[in-house]
Amino acid sequence: MRLRNIPGARKEIAADRYVIPEDLQPALKGNWVGRFGTNPRPLYIEIGMGKGKFLTSLAQQNPDINYIGIEKYSSVLVRAVRLREALEAQGTVLDNLLYLRMDAEKLTDVFAPAEVGRIYLNFSDPWPKDRHAKRRLPGRTFLRRYRQILVPDGQLEFKTDNRALFNFALSEAEEEGWRIDLCTYDLHADPRLCAGNVMTEYEERFSAQGNPICKMVSRPPADEH
Ligand code: SAH
Repeated sequence: MRLRNIPGARKEIAADRYVIPEDLQPALKGNWVGRFGTNPRPLYIEIGMGKGKFLTSLAQQNPDINYIGIEKYSSVLVRAVRLREALEAQGTVLDNLLYLRMDAEKLTDVFAPAEVGRIYLNFSDPWPKDRHAKRRLPGRTFLRRYRQILVPDGQLEFKTDNRALFNFALSEAEEEGWRIDLCTYDLHADPRLCAGNVMTEYEERFSAQGNPICKMVSRPPADEH
């Protein structure tokens, strides 16, 4: 995501009650349900949440699921926080959505084995240079982390308009023994697959430009658990 620095974003995030400060995150590992203060509900996370439209919509639509949005940059996360404040000002209070400003490299410090029911990746940065391949969120380095924190049969959902990244994600998933439950190169052209689809900011922008949207759903090999 192109970054426009937002002065004061760090401060604004630090003051927000829905953003868990970085130093407190590891202590919540294995006890996110307690932090939400609810009866057990499945926990779904989005990595690289951006400005939060997708996850905020899901949280509104599915009150029986807890959501955590993970974003690396304060200047981006602050937009999600403001979106939520705008909703609250209109009377929509969500008790099932929290945010972490963190690098996804640290996922296994923050989530216990089998703590996460589903992981969403939307329009992840492509990192086209070979020497940056390890930074790609749908790549094998991250798949191994996802596998550790997902419940048995937990799914990874990935959307992008970047075909090269999508094909890379498919081959990485296959190499790592993940099962591919769904794969399409043109999500919006398939009314059945598109039913209930929640658009992300990038999805709106790129599909408006005529780019087909690719989507895959995969799950880790069963033998880990
Ligand atoms: N999901 C949003 C934004 C896509 S842009 C949408 O579809 O509209 C990708 C986002 O991932 C950026 O906001 C970027 O800051 C974030 N990101 C990239 N690498 C990350 C990492 N390692 N950990 C957490 N967030 C990351």
